[in-house]
Amino acid sequence: MKIANSAGRAAIVIGEMTVDIATASDGCFGPDMMSVFDNWDEFCTFAANINEGTDALDMSSLQRPVSAPRQVFAIGLNYRQHAEEAGMEVPEVPATFTKFASSLSGPFDDIPIVGTSVDWEVELVAVVGRQADNVSVEDAWSYIAGLTVGQDISDRKLQMAAGRQFSLGKSRRGFGPMGPWIVTPDEFDNPDDLALGCSIDGEVVQDARSSDLIFDIPTLIAELSSVLTLYPGDVIFTGTPSGVGMAHTPPRALAPGIVIETWVEGIGTMRNTCV
Ligand code: ZN
Repeated sequence: MKIANSAGRAAIVIGEMTVDIATASDGCFGPDMMSVFDNWDEFCTFAANINEGTDALDMSSLQRPVSAPRQVFAIGLNYRQHAEEAGMEVPEVPATFTKFASSLSGPFDDIPIVGTSVDWEVELVAVVGRQADNVSVEDAWSYIAGLTVGQDISDRKLQMAAGRQFSLGKSRRGFGPMGPWIVTPDEFDNPDDLALGCSIDGEVVQDARSSDLIFDIPTLIAELSSVLTLYPGDVIFTGTPSGVGMAHTPPRALAPGIVIETWVEGIGTMRNTCV
């Protein structure tokens, strides 16, 4: 199943069509996306009977598929080659920071560029579907509502200016595009092995597979939920592979006018313009 946020209303996407969830469920779920995640198991039971779309899919109406997560986690140094290009050691526990929720944006939104060190980071993003405490690796996938595409846009200068406290430099306005929708894990042949990448004005700069994650999604759920409670709708940016701008020689950065396309196999492609 694909679930999108169409102009602020939760919708199931079926091919080129959508179903408005609040309308189809007589108000049981939606229109806000968070009510879908907060009642995930009941929603999935309801949605299993929805087979046909009622409205044409309008890509330009799509907003970030998690409207207001309680918590946003991001993982640093979670691909070996990226840790090497960043000149940092692979940590023993996931290097976890946050992108403050106000930085989240939609799959086709503009990215406001500030300064000359704004960088790209394609990421596979997991969305939590059930409250999780002390979940085992074996059970972890059942706590995931779905996967989406993300960009962990990063102001390197601000990121490094605060010691190793990355969160501020990762949280400028518009620095967290997500989308175009959430795809449930059952839609993938193997949700632990998905191609992901991004391009800058058509030039592919990152190209990898999520099977290269050091801490994969089940391990992240187990590690995070051993420390704290994960809530429905929580968002986890799982880390970026190699090929970020700062690792180029000379370093590269985003500038107004550049178009970033970001994709994950089996989910879709975001397109964001730097302004
Ligand atoms: Zn990142």
